[in-house]
Amino acid sequence: MNDEARMTNEYSSPNDECLSGGFGAASGFVLRHLSLIRNSVIRPSLFLLLLFPLTLHGADNLGVLGSKPKWEVLEHYQETITHDEFTHLINDVYCTHGFAADLIKIDNDAAQILANRESHNVFTLRFAPDANSEAHTPRLWRPAKSLPSAKPGKPLLGLRVALDPGHLGGKWAKMEERWFQVGDTKPVTEGDLTLRVSRMLASRLRKLGATVLYVRNSTDPITPKRPGDFKKLARKILIRNGLPQPRMGGDVLDPNDPEKEQTIRWQSEMLFYRYSEIRRRALLVNTKLHPDLVLCLHFNAEGWGDPSKPTLIDNNHLHLLVNGSYLQEELDLDDERFEMIRRLLSRAYDEELPIADTVALSMAKATGLPPYQYPTTLTTTKVGSSGYVYARNLLATRLYRCPVVYCEPYVMNSKDGFARIQAGDYDGLKEINGVARKSIFREYADSVAEGLAEYYRNREAYNAPTAARISSIVTSRDKFAEPIFDVTTNRISPRSNFLSNLSASKIFCRGKFGGSFVGNSNFCKRSTIALRCFSGRPALFIETSHAATIPKLTASPCEIPW
Ligand SMILES: [Zn+2]
Repeated sequence: MNDEARMTNEYSSPNDECLSGGFGAASGFVLRHLSLIRNSVIRPSLFLLLLFPLTLHGADNLGVLGSKPKWEVLEHYQETITHDEFTHLINDVYCTHGFAADLIKIDNDAAQILANRESHNVFTLRFAPDANSEAHTPRLWRPAKSLPSAKPGKPLLGLRVALDPGHLGGKWAKMEERWFQVGDTKPVTEGDLTLRVSRMLASRLRKLGATVLYVRNSTDPITPKRPGDFKKLARKILIRNGLPQPRMGGDVLDPNDPEKEQTIRWQSEMLFYRYSEIRRRALLVNTKLHPDLVLCLHFNAEGWGDPSKPTLIDNNHLHLLVNGSYLQEELDLDDERFEMIRRLLSRAYDEELPIADTVALSMAKATGLPPYQYPTTLTTTKVGSSGYVYARNLLATRLYRCPVVYCEPYVMNSKDGFARIQAGDYDGLKEINGVARKSIFREYADSVAEGLAEYYRNREAYNAPTAARISSIVTSRDKFAEPIFDVTTNRISPRSNFLSNLSASKIFCRGKFGGSFVGNSNFCKRSTIALRCFSGRPALFIETSHAATIPKLTASPCEIPW
C-alpha cells in the first residue's frame, strides 16, 4: 500500500483507495478548512493530515519534516533541457493538475520558478536552444545506455539496484496499520511480506549480474527517531489545526477509535514510521547507496475495516507508480516544488517510465492481474503504454534521487491474495481456490526480475553522434535495413515492424509513447511520429530502443494500410 503518499496526495490507510466515509463525523474545526481540500469524498479522520502541510511550518512553507531547499544546486542544470522538453514534462508528467501562474512561468528561452513564497525570490532556468546543444545533465545514477556492456546470461551486469521493501513489519506492523488477521490464521503484515519478496528478488537479480543494495533488510526502522521524539511536534500540529487541548490517546491505540487521528499518540507514531522513516531512507539512498534504480516493493490492500475481523473481497489488481502528478497544494510548498523541478531536470522519468512499463507487463503476464483503476483522477495520472503505470507524488518516489519504480501488486485482503499469502512459500505449483499457482512470493520476485532483465538486455546503444551518423547513412541509402538499436531509418520493411497510421496516431494522441529518435527529445519524437501519421506515411518505427521493450506494440503489428 502506498501510504508514503503525501498527506495531501490521497493519503492512504488500509482503506484509502475506497474513500468511503462521508463528512458526518467530522468535527467543526475541521470543517472550517474544507475549502482547502480538493478531494470531495474523503474519510473525516484524514482531515487533520490533509491540513498539516498548509499550516505546520508557517512562514517556512515546507512539507512535514521537510528541509529548506537549496535552489543554487539547480544552477548545474542550466541549459540541459530545451523549452519543448521542459514544457512536455511539466504538462504531461509533473503538473498534470495544473499550477498557479505565479509558481512557474515558461518563456521561450527560460522558465521562472518561484523559489520562496515569503521573499518572492525566483529561480531562472535557462533552456538549451535545441536538443543538440543541451549541456550534460549532472547525476549520480546511470541510465541503461551508460552501463558497461551486458554479457550473455547477465543482462543486469553493472547495474546497482536498491531494494526498498515497503513499511517495517514485525512489532511495528500494528502501529503502521499494516496488520490484519482472519480468525486464527497467521496475521498478514505488509512489511514482512515485502521483506520476504525483497530477499528472494535480491538473489535473482544477483544471478542476473546486478549489484543489489538494501534500503531495509530487517524489521528495524532506519530512522534513529521513535514516536516519543515527535510528541511535541504532534501536539503542535494538532493545536495549530484547531484542537486546543489534544488528548494523548492512551498507551495502546484502539484501531477502531474513529477519532484516533486526533490523538498525540497516533500523530507522533505516524511522524515516526512514515515521515521520519522515509526521509531517513532517502538520505541513505542519496548519500550512501547511490543506486542506478530503486525498486519500492509493496502489496496493495483495499479497506479491510476492523483489523481483527477484516473484510475479504473479490477485487485483485496490479499497478506501478512513478513520480509525477503533483497537486497544486503540493506545488505550493517551497520544498516540494524544488524537489519536483530537481527530479524533472535529472530526467529520471525518461528511464523510470520504460522500466516501469516493462516490469508491469512482465508482472501482468505472470500474475494475470488486471490494471488497477483509481476511483478518482485527482491525484494520479496514467502514463506509459502498458496501462498499468501511474504517475503519483509519493514521498519515496519524489525523494530518492534516481529512477524509482514503485510496485503495487496483489490486494492482500482479496480472497485470492489472502489465500496465497496464507499458503506461504513453496516449490512448484499448488492449487489455490481451484487454480494451480506458484507461491505468491516467487511469482512476485520472478516477474520483477524478468521485467528488469528484459529492459536492461536491450541496453546496447550508440552514443548520439555515432547513432546520428549511422542514421544518416541508413536513411539515405537503405530502405530495407535490418533494425539497428537506437538508429533512425527510412526503412519500410518488414511490415511487421510498423504500426498503422491509425494505431500510431492513437498512441500519439495519448501522448505517452517514448520511442527513441536520434538527436531529438521525446517531444520532437512524438511530433515527428505525428507528422508521419498525418502525411500518410508509414507511421512508427518499432525498432527504436524503448519501443523494442514494449510488447504491446509488437503484439499488434501488421495494420499497414498501404
Ligand atoms: Zn505499502
